[in-house]
Amino acid sequence: MESTLPALLALQLAAGGGPPPPVPPIPLAAEPSGAAAPADPGRSSADLYYFTPEEADRGAKLFGFPRRGKGWTFDDDVPKDIQEQMRRDLAFMGSIEGGPATPLHRGIFGDVAGAAYKEFFDSRVSAIGVSGCGSGNAVACVIPILGPSKMWITKNYIEFSHPQIARLMVVFHEARHTEIMRRNWPHARCPRPFRDSMGRDMKSIWTGAPLAGEPACDTTPLGSYGSSTIMLRNIRKSCSNCTDKVKMDAELYADDQFGRIIDAESRRRMEEDLR
Ligand SMILES: [Zn+2]
Repeated sequence: MESTLPALLALQLAAGGGPPPPVPPIPLAAEPSGAAAPADPGRSSADLYYFTPEEADRGAKLFGFPRRGKGWTFDDDVPKDIQEQMRRDLAFMGSIEGGPATPLHRGIFGDVAGAAYKEFFDSRVSAIGVSGCGSGNAVACVIPILGPSKMWITKNYIEFSHPQIARLMVVFHEARHTEIMRRNWPHARCPRPFRDSMGRDMKSIWTGAPLAGEPACDTTPLGSYGSSTIMLRNIRKSCSNCTDKVKMDAELYADDQFGRIIDAESRRRMEEDLR
């Protein structure tokens, strides 16, 4: 798996990420007051939004490290009902009570506890806007050169009907992509062919788009797909105030996302983490 692969941050709900390349020194700069809606990136491989590690560096130079703990805002064009839904979703996440977390979860999020999830999200995300994310198949994205701490949601996010914990998986996936220090955790490219254990072609759980050859996988447990899988598995295992439905949904989507972790050693680490 090439580690310098162009990265797709647009979440297609299925993959994992590669080990991050070394991080060059990045100058601090003032945080911008707001990013405009993303322009068409005009890329040849058109149907998905890609950014390269170099573009992640450019975003970091342009915008600097976000100041933490300032909270986040919605752009005016995020539909009001979606704003309310996201606030409700994040309030639910902030109410989670649980037992001890697995080692990988502790390293990424801390405890299985609402306060830990709230801190993770609020300290990373500065704003939420609406974008096409460069692809009809994208659900949400982070576009580093338009602001590394801003999350964009697409029509697919706004119109889809997926369980609450799956929506939360999307926004925590994107929150992981705001981490400038790790070059925003670029994805890895899924193999071609890309089939499950039953020999079926792997597809996005969201859009049904085939994933073979797309940069919609991870090779590390710590990237966006891996970290959100770990989060959901810990909620399924240890949340003490979640309904059975939430836990069943968490398991379903975690299993799907785990399929996007394509490195055998990373998969082994994630399985062992749960024991
Ligand atoms: Zn992603």
